[in-house]
Amino acid sequence: MTNDLPAPATAASHSPIASGDTSPVASGKATPVVGRFAPSPSGRMHLGNAVAALLAWLGARSAGGRMVLRIEDIDPRSRHRDHALTLMDDLRWLGIDWDEGPYWQTERTHHYQEALDLLGQAGLTYPCFCTRAQIHAASAPHESDGTYVYQGACRNLTPQQVAEKSRLRHPATRLVVPDAQSADGTVRFDDLVFGPHEERLARDCGDFVVSRSDGIAAYQLAVVVDDGLMGVTQVVRGRDLLGSTARQIYLMGLLGFEVPQYAHVPLVVAPDGRRLSKRDRDLDLGALRAAGTPPQRVAGWIAHATGLTDDFCETDASDLVDAFSWERLRTHHEDIVVDEAALSLLRYT
Ligand SMILES: [Zn+2]
Repeated sequence: MTNDLPAPATAASHSPIASGDTSPVASGKATPVVGRFAPSPSGRMHLGNAVAALLAWLGARSAGGRMVLRIEDIDPRSRHRDHALTLMDDLRWLGIDWDEGPYWQTERTHHYQEALDLLGQAGLTYPCFCTRAQIHAASAPHESDGTYVYQGACRNLTPQQVAEKSRLRHPATRLVVPDAQSADGTVRFDDLVFGPHEERLARDCGDFVVSRSDGIAAYQLAVVVDDGLMGVTQVVRGRDLLGSTARQIYLMGLLGFEVPQYAHVPLVVAPDGRRLSKRDRDLDLGALRAAGTPPQRVAGWIAHATGLTDDFCETDASDLVDAFSWERLRTHHEDIVVDEAALSLLRYT
């Protein structure tokens, strides 16, 4: 099935970096690392975001690679330019820079539509009219990340049924994944931190959404198109997205993109194991900066908490480039608990 779909025209014609003499194929050199930050500006950057951003930057810089900044503002809840500008300021404060961007997903919707058109023309998508309640009633959430496995209720609707249902509800668009028996539907990858992974798409997620019922490109599709067109070779992000990786790799193959390396990094959690969120405002970079915490303290804490350094000391992000190794992260991939000791260290209290 994968061979039926031509590489999208966008890969050559619109990519800001896939053409010209930077192409590894054209230059004949080994593929240079292209890393990326892809923050969603829904609020102030918290420590978990800072961990992922610093490690992504170190991953690229330690290999002599480049960084791309992409603002994932496609969801209406994330369309805050002021948040995005603050986020960029926080990154610079932490000592993190980038070579390209910012790209804004809201300015790239034509790329997502082209990919959807290609998938549709190949007969790989169909409209889904199910409500969230119907999907939850039809299946149990998957153990790994709580994703509900779609059972294919709308897979075989007749054109007449589609027309009737369309009058009542705007559909989402789902991508057909190969049947459970098909070898094509098994995705394997070797995460730089979490090691080998294997997922059977039919069993672990089912046909998945590539365009939402509100007409916005689904996260999985937008990320794949962006990473593909931007020539990203190394994706470093929180381990909460480990469960999305197989779907993204599968889409990459269908759209003719090179699959990047993936590295999922620990989350930052409260002592009760709860993920830090926007509610934990005292731990966002705005609060730490206001409290007078220097960036070297935050960078040093991250390096120590992720096992890159044996002892805590204040350090510039750039001084961590030589100490960085995936091997170190592999042996320290438990979530990072912000306990009282960490709090007082970060806030000087
Ligand atoms: Zn459905």
